[in-house]
Order: sequence, then C-alpha cells, then structure tokens
Amino acid sequence: MNTTQHKAYGAKTKDANLEPMQIERREPGSDDVKIEILYCGICHSDIHQVRNDWKNSVYPVIPGHEIIGKVTNVGTNVSRFSEGDLVGVGCMVDSCQECDSCKKDLEQFCENGATFTYNSEDKHLGGHTYGGYSTGVTVNQDFVLKVPENLDAKATAPLLCAGITTWSPLSTWNVGKGDKVGVVGLGGLGHMGIKFANALGAYVVMITTSPSKAEDAKRLGAHEVLLSTDEDAMKSHTGTFDFILNTVPVGHDINPYINLLKIDATMVMVGAVEPLEAVNGAGLIMGRKRVAGSLIGGIKETQEMLDFCGEHNIVSDIEMVDMQEANSAFERVVNADVKYRFVIDMASLKN
Ligand SMILES: [Zn+2]
Ligand SMILES: [Zn+2]
Repeated sequence: MNTTQHKAYGAKTKDANLEPMQIERREPGSDDVKIEILYCGICHSDIHQVRNDWKNSVYPVIPGHEIIGKVTNVGTNVSRFSEGDLVGVGCMVDSCQECDSCKKDLEQFCENGATFTYNSEDKHLGGHTYGGYSTGVTVNQDFVLKVPENLDAKATAPLLCAGITTWSPLSTWNVGKGDKVGVVGLGGLGHMGIKFANALGAYVVMITTSPSKAEDAKRLGAHEVLLSTDEDAMKSHTGTFDFILNTVPVGHDINPYINLLKIDATMVMVGAVEPLEAVNGAGLIMGRKRVAGSLIGGIKETQEMLDFCGEHNIVSDIEMVDMQEANSAFERVVNADVKYRFVIDMASLKN
C-alpha cells in the first residue's frame, strides 16, 4: 500500500513527554478522504491515553480526536467531499457497518469494536491508529464530517468530542423548551452542555462547587447558578429538574444531584469513567428516578450536532497553542486551568 510521511507528536512510553515523530498514512483508497489537518483539540482522554491511565495504551501514542482540516484528495467512490472542503474527524475512523449498533447509527457501540481515531488496530497498515496531533490523516468517507463554513474553524475542533459528548444525551433525552436542565461541572464538557441546553430552549442551571464560576457560567448561557455546597439552595431546588447532565470527570457523590431530579427524570453521566461513591437506592426508588451514561455519539448524530452549531452559531471557547507547547498544555488541562479547551494550531508543526 502506498503511504506518505507526516510529521506528528506522540509519546513513546507512559512516562514520556510528547515529542516530534514521523508517521506514515495510507494514500486514499477508493472510499477514503485525505485530509490536511489544520487544528486539533486537546481532550482529557488524550492525556489519559498517553499516560496509560486506562491500561490499554499502545505506544507510541499519537493522540488527538478533535480534528479539523481541509480535504486534499478523495478516492474514486467519494462524491460527498471534494478538494478544499472543510471537514472534521472525531473519536472514530471506522466500524464494521454491519452489526445492529452500526445499523442504528450507533457506531460508537459497534459490536465488533469501532476503530477509534488513535490507539485502535489499524486495519489498513497494521499496527495501531494515530490521532490528530499530526499534519495529515486519511479516513473512510463515512467517518468524515462536514463542518459549517460560517463557524470559526479552529473553535469547531472541540465539537468533535466535547461537543458530541454533551449533545448526544441532550438530544437522546429530548431536552427542549420548558425543561429545567442542570449541568454539573464547568470544564470542556460542561461549557458545551450549557451552550447546547440554552440553544435548545431549556432553562439552564449551572451546578458547581465554586462561586468563582458563576459569572462565566452566565456568560455561556446559564440562567441560574446553584452552589452544591449551599445546603439551603440545594433544598430549595429539590425535585425540580427535568434533566441533569453530569460532566464531573472523577468519582464523586451523586446522591445530592439525584435529589434534585423530578419524578421519572434522568441524570446522565458523561465524565467519570471510574467508580462513583455509593448510591442510596431510596433516592432512586422515591420518584422512579434514573441515572444513565452516554458515550460520544454516532456519525449521523455528530453531523446533526455540527449542523445545529452552524445554525445557532455555536463553537467552543478555546485557547490556541502551538504543537511544541502541548506538554505544558497537558499540565494545564490536568490542573483544570483552561477556558475551556486547548486547540493546537497545526501550522506550527508544518514549519
Ligand atoms: Zn475526547
Ligand atoms: Zn458494527
């Protein structure tokens, strides 16, 4: 198979910093789109994978699954994309396309295992897949997304993971006008949750432990801020929420949030991929309440999210960094010191 060389940044071991590397990408087959990467967001998962926090990393890890780029070449079967198109690639680059999940447009739950953008088996070149911290990528056309041209391209990068992660539960649970929606946690995910819930017409309450976040939450579209440390305030909101989006990235006590739900209402977890503190069954039983989870979204749903963003002028709040600054950006993400997403300017890697 013909390949081309690309510059990239990756980590060779779990203790290593990201460093410059050369990688190979396949030349487009008949169903492929070749993309020159312009921008790539930094997701907290990138750091978990580089540091082998989930014990499944394969090295070198070249992270990045919030990719925005320009099409430079397409295969003979590709008609939806052409040279010069602005496109996105998110967390997946392939799936079996035949199982029940894939047929239901839920490729993220492919029963045969979706091919994730990095750290999955590379079915074309062997080895494993490499992510977007590089100058280019070749992707099956079914996993390439159209990016609305009216949006600021660099600020659309985080929509490919942080965006769809928060959009999918809001859409799946039909959040809309008249709903009182809580968003727990104000980081990369939470700030998108506020923007989407607001644009969908909901009454949005930012639920946080830190009063310092109140002003920013309101700027992002929250109608009210509820301090979870204020017992009286929490009491006054008991049983009033139609839906809660919980974006807290670590294990924590979710019982106080369950108390906020109305009868039959649901809280969806999107952040914590680890054990939560014990849940009191009574809190769920009294009111037939539900706690659910959600993982990114399918390709069709991701395109719907991007189209919605185009119509409503929604992008992420970002801070641009050069590829060479990625290691210090990782540290700042770990310390929650970013408003609200870093995006790498890939021009810095090309020189
Ligand atoms: Zn991500
Ligand atoms: Zn499948």
